[in-house]
Amino acid sequence: MRTHRLAGVLALGALASACQLEQRPPATPADLVLRDGAVWTATASRPWAEALAIREGRIIYVGDAAGAQRFVGRGTTVLELGGRMVLPGFHDTHAHPLSGGLELGECNLYEARTPAEIEGAIRACVAARPEEPWIRGNGWQLPVFPDANPNKALLDRIVSDRPAFFYAADGHSAWVNSKALELAGITRETPNPAGGRIERDARSGEPSGTLREEAIGLVSSRLPPYTPEERTGAVRRALGEANRLGITSITDADVGPEYLAAYQEVDRRNELTARVFAALRVPEELPTAEMLSRLKAARDGVRGSNRLRAATAKIYTDGVIESRTAALLAPYLGRGGDTGPLVFEPAALEERVLALDKAGFQLHLHAIGDRAIRVSLDALARAREVNGSRDARPVLAHIELFDPADLARFRGLGAIASFQPFWAQADEYITELTEPALGPARSRWLYPIGSMLASGAMVAGGSDWTVSTLNPLEAIQVAILRRAPEAGPGPAWLPEERADLPRMLQAYTINGAYAHHAERETGSLEAGKLADLVVLDHNLFDVPAEAIHRTRVLLTLLEGKPVWRDSTFAAELR
Ligand SMILES: [Zn+2]
Repeated sequence: MRTHRLAGVLALGALASACQLEQRPPATPADLVLRDGAVWTATASRPWAEALAIREGRIIYVGDAAGAQRFVGRGTTVLELGGRMVLPGFHDTHAHPLSGGLELGECNLYEARTPAEIEGAIRACVAARPEEPWIRGNGWQLPVFPDANPNKALLDRIVSDRPAFFYAADGHSAWVNSKALELAGITRETPNPAGGRIERDARSGEPSGTLREEAIGLVSSRLPPYTPEERTGAVRRALGEANRLGITSITDADVGPEYLAAYQEVDRRNELTARVFAALRVPEELPTAEMLSRLKAARDGVRGSNRLRAATAKIYTDGVIESRTAALLAPYLGRGGDTGPLVFEPAALEERVLALDKAGFQLHLHAIGDRAIRVSLDALARAREVNGSRDARPVLAHIELFDPADLARFRGLGAIASFQPFWAQADEYITELTEPALGPARSRWLYPIGSMLASGAMVAGGSDWTVSTLNPLEAIQVAILRRAPEAGPGPAWLPEERADLPRMLQAYTINGAYAHHAERETGSLEAGKLADLVVLDHNLFDVPAEAIHRTRVLLTLLEGKPVWRDSTFAAELR
């Protein structure tokens, strides 16, 4: 990666001097010129421009229309934008593209909002798969069931002869039928595994069909493995979906060896249509030294690629509030003093963070509860004390519930706040499962995006797709209004934590690039940078915030080449 970055710097230097010769016609015309657009550059020095020229995958000019004319030659394609908006391609700093791509081929429960709708969706799915040995699916929404606790009886009514396994939308719970419990040998006598819970019938003590966190593996380990072809197909499908929404750079926040192999294979065939930043999952069961050597080997295996990097280590520090598995500083209400588990005790977390940081990995920490956030920050602070200062850019993802005292520590530590802004709305996850577990005083500090921005910390955006929508524009709208995208006008949830449009666009462009250690190459529209950009059907600054989510992405370019084009737009680009 060091040589790669150096190459980028040299290229930047060469292009910068070329641009100083702007007065004279360039020796070589541009491949593509975009004209008459509202070009939002994500730079402070020139936030807006009208035109942009691209040659050999890089931006060679950003400025007014007259200036762009000098780059138009015989072979140049000129796109007249008619005032449409151009932006840097979006960076999603926390998503699960590969598993999302796999899910696109399975039973989908994401849109079902009642038990009856869920039953209907599963019935249809089972009927369509008469041959498959397992029925597997994803996306049941926790609030559909009381206490987020569906029962095996409902599944047994639909499918009893084959095992059935359904991940919850957040991936932290699974719902299985009796056949699956039987195959996995889970009975009344089975103890809860460390870091997991087998939900049980209150009277009989029998497993009731819902598994939390580490207990999921008791059944998921029996699922037939995906084939390498299914995984590479999933990469292509997911990145295609990302491109359609304007995403050109994406973090896969949970990459094990098989996933990395799939990304490498697609990269080897030159078919990655977005830059992929693989966050290598830290295996929780391994001692630190062995874990470290595995991750280093994985990182070394992808050096030299310009679309795939694997220099980030992902650690789960806790679970989620809705199922009471997030680690809190004070107890959950009504749970008898339970504060929720940490995945690693603080000393064990610190040991791993220190070792990974010293080996040059960027840390990407899942931290949701205020205790998980605090121990994560403590470990990162310790890493700076012990390992000295370096350009570490650790990322804390999700960061749902804060002790306000910890907000200011992000800036001090240079930690990046990767929020999932789509979650900052008073949906049933908040009103039914989160606020009742925390009470009003703590609930004030849920997703404090506005306070984090005000603190001067680096805020980036992420979808956590398929947990929630992959569409950055929907998430941006929610961050601005703190309301559901379709809800129309009305009160904001925690209005003091609203963000504004320019800052959210920065979060999804230049700040995302910074989080990806890629801001020298992408994230803004400047001469010398790679031409990763999107064209939207209108200027986001010209419409009310309520309409942002209806904006369409007409064109997505990666290194100047279309990776998505709306059929109504720019037919001259193939
Ligand atoms: Zn995630």
